[in-house]
Amino acid sequence: MESFFTAHDIEAAYGRLQVLWGVDLTLGRGEVAVLLGSNGAGKTTLLKALMGLRPLLKGEITLGGQRVERLRPDVRVQRGIHYMTELGVFPNLSVDENLQVGGFGLARAELRRRIRDLHETFPDLGRLHTASAASLSGGQRKMLAVAKAIVVPPRLLLMDEPSAGLSPRFVAEVVAVLRRLREDGPTMLIAEQNVKFLEIADRAYVLDGGRISFAGSVAELTADDAVRQAYFGVSGH
Ligand code: ATP
Repeated sequence: MESFFTAHDIEAAYGRLQVLWGVDLTLGRGEVAVLLGSNGAGKTTLLKALMGLRPLLKGEITLGGQRVERLRPDVRVQRGIHYMTELGVFPNLSVDENLQVGGFGLARAELRRRIRDLHETFPDLGRLHTASAASLSGGQRKMLAVAKAIVVPPRLLLMDEPSAGLSPRFVAEVVAVLRRLREDGPTMLIAEQNVKFLEIADRAYVLDGGRISFAGSVAELTADDAVRQAYFGVSGH
């Protein structure tokens, strides 16, 4: 598949502490990749670097064949790169106010139409559209975070640990939401520790101490002994 999004030789640091070394990623248009890695592996730093929220020591990033690594974060958003943080919503705003923030820049009528569409896609959000985000369940809040990230349809959606803080039932709900979202075709990079997200992925990367230690298909990943031991708690075949 022709590459749509690439990151090449990404390196980043906090002061003198370098946390990413020579990271390469490649995604085809519409592909979904999971970026696995334990706490502190550098997943959040990598997503921030891709978004322009952390400076690069070195590296190149392309989207649709165009270099973007020197663009400001807001310009990357305009190019279609959206970022869902671990929290993902403003708790003190209502559901619809969060969606309005997500749709910043859209014309009023278009924003209303998109919010109506999202109420249909996520019936819980439609039902609770005036409720504060803080009053939602963990799963609903994550749904809102996803909805907020796609009010303006992204070309590339970067997600930081959509399972964070969720019980297994809600994780399954979020995976179902992303499975449906896949059909609309945004390219997705999902940073996760939870292997359940591999169910909806085409490709997987493992980040280990700031370096990519595995890149390949999900089938290759699940066959890899070291990965099986680290993430599935089993060894051998
Ligand atoms: P987690 O799942 O815990 O968020 P992660 O894989 O996203 O982990 P990062 O948050 O990117 O990992 O952290 C990578 C490394 O950078 C860690 O060693 C962390 O301690 C360090 N680090 C992260 N943020 C800062 C910061 N603001 N200042 C200094 N060091 C940081």
